Amino acid sequence: MKNINDLTLKELEEYFINKGSKKFHALQLFNFLYEKKIKSLTEVTTIKKDFLDQIEKDFSFNKIKLIIVEKDKDVSKYLFELQDKEHIEAVLMQHDYGLSVCVSSQVGCNMGCAFCESGRRKKVRNLEVYEMVQQILLIEEETKTRISHVVVMGIGEPFDNYENLTKFLSIINEAKGLAIGARHITVSTCGIVPKILEFTNFPLQINLAISLHAPNDEIRNKLMPISKVYPLKDLIEAIKFYIEKTNRRVTFEYILLKDVNDSTECALQLAKLVKGINCYINLIPYNETNNLNFMRSNTVQIMRFYDILKKNNVNVTIRKEFGSKISAACGQLRSKKEEL
Ligand code: SAH
Repeated sequence: MKNINDLTLKELEEYFINKGSKKFHALQLFNFLYEKKIKSLTEVTTIKKDFLDQIEKDFSFNKIKLIIVEKDKDVSKYLFELQDKEHIEAVLMQHDYGLSVCVSSQVGCNMGCAFCESGRRKKVRNLEVYEMVQQILLIEEETKTRISHVVVMGIGEPFDNYENLTKFLSIINEAKGLAIGARHITVSTCGIVPKILEFTNFPLQINLAISLHAPNDEIRNKLMPISKVYPLKDLIEAIKFYIEKTNRRVTFEYILLKDVNDSTECALQLAKLVKGINCYINLIPYNETNNLNFMRSNTVQIMRFYDILKKNNVNVTIRKEFGSKISAACGQLRSKKEEL
């Protein structure tokens, strides 16, 4: 049985029409669910009781469970338990421009990136649409505030769960619901080329971020197995196509790992690789984890890398750091919990 939070507005409208009701009632229900945030259908005042009973029978209203919140100054980490007792996490970040939530898209991850905690556990399953939507709903409920920004950068590879991802994006963007602006939503991928191409047809103006992490195939192959399937040449070609079709700027994420990808030569190669591409590069100081052997580049090296890119006219920023104290890097809270 589908969960009520699995349905896009369009799907809900189809349901209403199929059951002999009116399309506009679907929009009303959507509004009650996401803007008014009702706790039960009895609070819906604009739809007949009989029909509400029918909805109650046709859909599940189960919720994922919030089991741990760790709070720091401007970041909170949420651990959720799913109905099958699996765990996923989300992170809430307080920016000067608003509140942003980093959501998970899968239980475990099959991409196997060498530096990433999430990938230590193979994919168990994709998240259902409602399990992604409810991460945001439950955080809004817990904080009693409105979330303005969403990044799909938690556990999992969103483009390995494409159909559910795109439904999730439609639901949270819907104007009469959570109304999170498409330009305030970012999807991050390790570089699954066919899905980047497919995403060019997705109608919303969502930001795309690419986890690049290396300026050549040799280093990238060591860090990210996906690179053997889609080498940089194919990835860059797909990104150029994406930019040409959507007219949007992409973000490249580049974690700086000491003595792995942080040399002057790497910086020069990277500048050359992205030359002429409408993009900016987000340099990420590595969040060290106990279980993996990578180290963060020191600050001098980070600044040197940054300066080389700047000098070569690349748009570059260094990511503001959140949550190194509260194990907020991908997969770290789940790992901690399961080691308990
Ligand atoms: N699978 C997607 C989204 C999840 S990872 C992707 O690969 O983009 C989100 C980002 O966090 C990626 O850029 C990932 O490489 C990065 N990341 C993973 N572990 C990290 C760590 N310990 N420190 C800093 N960034 C990390």
